[in-house]
Amino acid sequence: RSGFAALIGRPNVGKSTLLNQLTGEKIAIVSPKPQTTRNRILGVVTRPEGQVAFIDTPGIHQAKGELNRYMVEVALQAAEEVDLVLFVVDIPGGEKLEVGPGNRTILERLQKLGKPTFLVINKIDTLPKALILPLIDLYRNEFPFAEVVPISAREGDGVDRLFQVVLQHL
Ligand code: GDP
Ligand code: MG
Repeated sequence: RSGFAALIGRPNVGKSTLLNQLTGEKIAIVSPKPQTTRNRILGVVTRPEGQVAFIDTPGIHQAKGELNRYMVEVALQAAEEVDLVLFVVDIPGGEKLEVGPGNRTILERLQKLGKPTFLVINKIDTLPKALILPLIDLYRNEFPFAEVVPISAREGDGVDRLFQVVLQHL
């Protein structure tokens, strides 16, 4: 099995960290500063079970200014070209449990593409475990996700499983 998957989501949710964890290399710059990833970055993971090319993209956010608009288009363009979309979210500390207007806008655009889309909930190392199920419910109300996969991109928890589930859909 083989194919292409795009990492799509708001800035700072951990898309680049996930790409690095998947490939075992520091391909993409990870930064607490938003908008470090300005172009798409490709990381290919090859295992006996199959091969997946992951495309890291700039975070999607309210686009003000020309560079921002460009980065949003880079991300959505990548989503158009792949077999599968990994929609990555986190839950920043202190904020209330909600999907938020930014994520809703991305999901509306993704819905038009009609591709198999996973909900990848990142940073479960920081998220209180009791919040994971309510969060999944909130997102499932917004979008018909093909799979829901909680991970910690930083610690690596769930990342091998994510790779295997991706392969099952290719
Ligand atoms: P991107 O903008 O979506 O590419 O996000 P980055 O990969 O650059 O990560 C943004 C910030 O979140 C960085 O400070 C990362 O170290 C942090 N981060 C990413 N993944 C995790 C995770 O699984 N757990 C925790 N605690 N922090 C993470
Ligand atoms: Mg990034």
